[in-house]
Amino acid sequence: MNLTVFKRLCLGISAWFCVATLCAQEAPRPQWCYETLDTTVSIVPDRGMLSIRGTGTLVLHHETSSVDLRVNGSWQTLRFESLSSRAGDSKINVLNPEHKAWRIGTLQFSKPRAPGSRIQVEFELVKERDAFPLAVKANAAVAISDAVWLPVSGDMGCDLPPGKLTFLMPVGWHAASNGKVVASGMREGRAFETYQIPKSHQRAFIAAPYHLANGRAPTSSIDLYLLNATLNSSRLLESFAAARQFLEERYGPVPFADYKIAEMPNDLVPWYGASEEGLIITRNEMMGSEEAVLNNFVHELAHAWWGNKVTPTGPGSYLLNEGMASFSGIEFFESRVGREGALAYLEFGSPSSSPDATTYGYLQLACSGKDVPLAALKPDSGDDYNIAQSKGVWVLRMLADRVGRERFFHVLRMLESEPNLTQERFRKAFEAEAPEMGLSQFFRQWLDRPGIPVIGLEWRNQNATGKPRALITIFQKQRGEPYDLDLEVLLRTRKGVVTRSVHIDRAQVTVEIDLPGELVDAVVDPGSRLLVWRPSYRTLCTPR
Ligand SMILES: [Zn+2]
Repeated sequence: MNLTVFKRLCLGISAWFCVATLCAQEAPRPQWCYETLDTTVSIVPDRGMLSIRGTGTLVLHHETSSVDLRVNGSWQTLRFESLSSRAGDSKINVLNPEHKAWRIGTLQFSKPRAPGSRIQVEFELVKERDAFPLAVKANAAVAISDAVWLPVSGDMGCDLPPGKLTFLMPVGWHAASNGKVVASGMREGRAFETYQIPKSHQRAFIAAPYHLANGRAPTSSIDLYLLNATLNSSRLLESFAAARQFLEERYGPVPFADYKIAEMPNDLVPWYGASEEGLIITRNEMMGSEEAVLNNFVHELAHAWWGNKVTPTGPGSYLLNEGMASFSGIEFFESRVGREGALAYLEFGSPSSSPDATTYGYLQLACSGKDVPLAALKPDSGDDYNIAQSKGVWVLRMLADRVGRERFFHVLRMLESEPNLTQERFRKAFEAEAPEMGLSQFFRQWLDRPGIPVIGLEWRNQNATGKPRALITIFQKQRGEPYDLDLEVLLRTRKGVVTRSVHIDRAQVTVEIDLPGELVDAVVDPGSRLLVWRPSYRTLCTPR
């Protein structure tokens, strides 16, 4: 199965995906939305069974004499067992030839209902088969929001109301879902847990015979739902709390106070993890080390702002959700392991991260002719997703270096109030806040063109005046216009090592530099401040 088709591919390995851009598309007004919605999910794992009973109030947005309630997204997994309402007669499991997976329940009213009318409905759904986003096996049950496992209006979604979500499960099982557990216990020989789901949350869950570890802060909680992963829970919870504090210091209070992180058996579904609102699901094999779990957590948590609170739209929106999530992860990682460790991770990854979302991975992709400018990233492309997480992270780092971290995060906090942020708007906001920084040119060269600078350097000592002095020539070898860069050059002389900044804006720039002693070696951008071609990528093509 080609997993790269999913638009919310998330973190690393191509099967990661998350709900970051779920609400990004602008849609016309749906036929109806829920005003209330309470649901009970019954799981019988031994028989692979799942049923969902719900009661809700629909509010009509148009005058109509019938309404449709649709389940299933792109995968056929559920069917209606029943649909009833005092308002009219129902038909269930109606098909739509354009969307073969959909099962539609229709309520027919005796006379047209006016906009604003409220309709009470009751429904029961049952699982017909396991599918990509929803599965029930003997060891666990999972349903993410992509399954569309609660009826929605036609082909459009709407903001969901708060509501109760109760799970009935075998004794010893727990369910991880969005929000808070408000009741739990035994009912008819089975375990139950009731969640209060906050407003606007797409419902998702995973249930299994979990053991729980809790980390509590005054206004929030992080719960860890573990099966077999051998992790030090208390150390991990401390790291999570530190990561949350780190991000909150930069972006403000996290939009979801309560977070659940749940391990998923490797054989349940063919994907590696998912980020839902307040819920992170991670496959067991991705939980090999605390570092791996932590890195995943920070990326997913950053989506709470960059993907969920702000749902970027338009071309290049990947930079503002996936790019920002990975950028935030690197910033946190750097605060823990230092700059060198963070740069190594950014360039070459780690045993538990995706090799495609690294600088090396990006250049590999560029070498195979698949590079696109960051301003033109398309949200359905797996390659573009990786570009956002590699070159995109670099460009955000260079921008933060240029304007200073304080101003950088100040602008981001301002932009958080714009739910449909575009890359164009992002650029304009930075240009307005830092007019002296030449950012329009910075953005043009880093966002509007593919590739990176390929810098060459030649030098020779110049002894004519008797003073140690060297001629340094810097070449730009990449295709297209030369970049405008302030390039640091490290100069090793026989009387010490010095660094100098050289401004380059042409294909070839030569400067004369006074030195303490005879020059013996010169290195371009020794501190890795810029995304430029480096000798460590030499097993790849040299981009031209
Ligand atoms: Zn992501």
